Amino acid sequence: MHNEGFVSLVGAGPGDVELLTVKALRLIQQAEVIVYDRLISGDILKLIPAGVSRIAVGKSPGAHCLPQNDINEIMINLATAGRRVVRLKGGDPYLFGRGSEEALALKKHHIKFEVVPGITAAFGCSAYSGIPLTHRGLSRSVKFITGHFSNDEALEYDWEKLADQDCTLVFYMAMANLLTICSQLINAGLDAGTPAAAVENGTTQSQRRIISTLGLLFAEVSAQRIQAPAMIIIGNVVSLATDIDWFQQSLEMTVYDESLAASR
Ligand code: SAH
Repeated sequence: MHNEGFVSLVGAGPGDVELLTVKALRLIQQAEVIVYDRLISGDILKLIPAGVSRIAVGKSPGAHCLPQNDINEIMINLATAGRRVVRLKGGDPYLFGRGSEEALALKKHHIKFEVVPGITAAFGCSAYSGIPLTHRGLSRSVKFITGHFSNDEALEYDWEKLADQDCTLVFYMAMANLLTICSQLINAGLDAGTPAAAVENGTTQSQRRIISTLGLLFAEVSAQRIQAPAMIIIGNVVSLATDIDWFQQSLEMTVYDESLAASR
């Protein structure tokens, strides 16, 4: 009997293993092969049953490990050989995840697939850093924006359109172009005092958060050596961060407790 291969394009969420969906967990447990990205956290990889093949196809910023075509080919070959493949992707597959490119490639090769949404990094960072993406009276809309163009092309936007006080701006992959982003928004008329934040390793035990302003964010991010993966959130909603934070404080308390314990 010929087994028909199948690919599940699965969003694994932003890092905290408990932010996996029940469906993602079931698929991980039933997979024959898992093809995963660099951003998949170690805690999630620990859920993969022993004996299941794992293929890392991760990309790190500036150092592309495997070209997208090769990743597509791996999945196509596995599925054609009858394997049940889980393609684990950070966050949500369809938000800056190239999941749709993979879906198109599978479709072209007549391979059956499904897509399982995941909690995108913006939602994870928002909840775990005390920054709602909308709030009555502070923000009426949200924009998800890439801070990096493919092939390292210069970041060109209609900055005047983006410089809207009523809209929360969420930049993914923005670390290399952070200075450009902040200065272009200020040049386009967004107040340099607009609250702005960076959230590094959001939702994980190593989350770090910088609460600043548009004018000062780049300097603070550089001083604190904030690195990818990090999310940039710009807008009045960032002003709520200290009031409704529940996670960052608990992390800092843990660090404090540990240093107290160590000094005893
Ligand atoms: N599909 C993913 C995004 C992939 S692009 C999603 O839906 O989340 C990779 C970018 O996502 C990173 O450069 C960073 O901006 C953001 N990102 C992913 N995980 C993150 C995390 N744990 N904390 C902060 N930003 C994160």
